[in-house]
Amino acid sequence: MQDIAPQHDCLTLVIAAYNEADALPALQPRIAAALDLAESEGLEARVLYIDDGSRDATWDVLRGLAARDPRIGLLRLSRNFGKEAALTAGLDRIERGAALILDADGQDPPELLPQFIAKWREGFDDVHGTRLERDGEGLLKRATAHGFYRVMGMLSKTPVPRDTGDFRLLSPRALAALRELRERHRFMKGLFGWIGFNQVAIPYHREARLAGRSKFGFWKLWNFALEGITSFSTAPLRAATYLGIATAFVAFVYGAWVIAKALLWGDPVAGWPTMMAVILFLGGVQLVALGLIGEYLGRLYEESKQRPLYLVDSWLPATGVSSQRH
Ligand code: UDP
Ligand code: MG
Repeated sequence: MQDIAPQHDCLTLVIAAYNEADALPALQPRIAAALDLAESEGLEARVLYIDDGSRDATWDVLRGLAARDPRIGLLRLSRNFGKEAALTAGLDRIERGAALILDADGQDPPELLPQFIAKWREGFDDVHGTRLERDGEGLLKRATAHGFYRVMGMLSKTPVPRDTGDFRLLSPRALAALRELRERHRFMKGLFGWIGFNQVAIPYHREARLAGRSKFGFWKLWNFALEGITSFSTAPLRAATYLGIATAFVAFVYGAWVIAKALLWGDPVAGWPTMMAVILFLGGVQLVALGLIGEYLGRLYEESKQRPLYLVDSWLPATGVSSQRH
């Protein structure tokens, strides 16, 4: 797949939407303008919206938008599979050219498209937007996100660029490479880094959402962080090993001391508090290590089931190019 010749003729914007009925009508004009810009640069430009099993009017809104612009393609999943699976579904359906991934809530400005295209034409395979500031996001989210990227950077063997989300352009060969990674636990930020190729960052200002609320609450973000760490690092398992060795060493020394004491000075019945402390401590350490192994084992179990990553309900490809072209 590495020998795919660079094609600079087609670009598809890929947008996963989950309950975004309020944001999409405001976003589409900006997307249309970006598509016009891409066309004026000689590209065949399309947009593919993926409805990730929305419960609100998202699908009807999308159908309405698609009826007015033949450059819009629509994909609907059978239920909510999560953003990572929805994006995978979209990327799987791109037959030609590059892909640019955006959020449906307008937080990733489509107005930056020309910069992405320019970098792609310079020969970069992965052009990603790096957030300079984040509007409309609380201190806690910013602080935890900050911490997360630093921890990931330390633990992962392949680079995970800091403060970078899914807002990125992938060249045809990067896309082909990504399609070969079919793991069920998809930590996209890590996968992008894993495939390698020429990467470059474009700094941008992250605006507040157009409408609605973030789908990623604290609990979901915590699980997302766990996913990232367990998918791209076995460092926690290693840490458990070292913790085990250190505990065993301390236990051994203490055991030797207890035996020596009994031999030297006899063994009056005492030591209930020490025994309780030792049992509780060892029990705690064992449970932590077991839980850790369980996290990895659970993921192994999910992978072994070999289920599809997503199921498609409807697929309505873009029908044609806009009348403004040529
Ligand atoms: N999204 C999705 N499936 C989900 C959750 C979110 O497709 O299960 C989409 C959502 O519609 C949006 C993008 O993923 O386009 C980012 O979501 P959100 O804005 O809630 O995340 P945040 O920007 O707060 O990290
Ligand atoms: Mg958002």
